[in-house]
Amino acid sequence: MNFASDNVAGAHPALLQALADINDETLGSYGEDRFNAQVEQECRRIFEHDTLKTILVATGSGANALALATMTPAWGAIYCHRTSHIVVDEANAVQAATGGAALLALPGDNGKIDPEALRGAIFGKGVIHHPQPAALSLTQMNEYGVAYTLDELSELTAIAQEHGLKIHMDGARFGNAIVGLNVSPADMTWRLGVDMLVFGATKNGALAGEILVCFDPSVVEELEFRRKRAGQLFSKMRTLSAPLAAYLRDGLWLDNARHANAMAQKLAEGLSSADGIELCRQPSGNQLFMAMDPAMKAKLLDAGAYFHDWPDDGPTAVRMVTAFNTLEADVDAVIAAACG
Ligand SMILES: *Cc1c(COP(=O)(O)O)cnc(C)c1O
Repeated sequence: MNFASDNVAGAHPALLQALADINDETLGSYGEDRFNAQVEQECRRIFEHDTLKTILVATGSGANALALATMTPAWGAIYCHRTSHIVVDEANAVQAATGGAALLALPGDNGKIDPEALRGAIFGKGVIHHPQPAALSLTQMNEYGVAYTLDELSELTAIAQEHGLKIHMDGARFGNAIVGLNVSPADMTWRLGVDMLVFGATKNGALAGEILVCFDPSVVEELEFRRKRAGQLFSKMRTLSAPLAAYLRDGLWLDNARHANAMAQKLAEGLSSADGIELCRQPSGNQLFMAMDPAMKAKLLDAGAYFHDWPDDGPTAVRMVTAFNTLEADVDAVIAAACG
């Protein structure tokens, strides 16, 4: 009953199997293997885009930093939400990779950037004293378990384009957002002007690996050098590429996200009927935030549930996250403990 995060889960068996199946083969190194090409082909199909390129990296922080470094000069400004992973959880990796770009951390309810705040923060273009407007970073699904609607995304990307900003999307939970909104990957990304997506896999059933999807293929050469230089180019690339090809093939990534979201939905419905629990917001994906009485919290911990406090959502707030392999029996047991 561990609901601490979606990365406490192991890997989906099909992904481990994909690696085991080719263990006796010799394969080209550093990405010269057929699975690397398959990942790109699968992404072209999934995103309905014939020229996109993909680059595999091991971690989401690495992917975000590399992506934003190609969009932002050292004197540039990156606009993002104040709670975004790049601000709060990456130990200034983006600033290091860009050589010192500013992260302008914007307000907005439920982890979504307020469009007026974005408009107000973009200034100083061409003025030698100011960070130069360079990139917008959106997290979808965001840190509060909420997905921007396509209309909300479109309002933000239009502002970005008006000012010539590049657009980065942190999709550590991209699958959960796609399933939650029931929209197409193309409509949620390049058709709105997203230049680069971090298409997450680690939190959705991979052992490791994130796919950097570049809708503008011209950045790939630079990105490849940046990846190598950052120590993110795997020598035995098959460890990432073979499982990721299996992750994309036949929609496993969607099945995994669907299960995680359904478990969070069930948890939300069950727990919201218990005394002493109040949802902070309706979840659109697999993360659930709630205010919880200390007595209720003690009761659930006693019953064997595990989860984190989330003080940013209030003094008694906690977060529960479900994963691709969350057992329905565990969800039922937590609900029974809360309502019992
Ligand atoms: C988990 C996560 C990442 C990636 O984190 P790593 O630990 O570096 O893999 C990036 N963005 C968001 C929103 C996340 O939740």
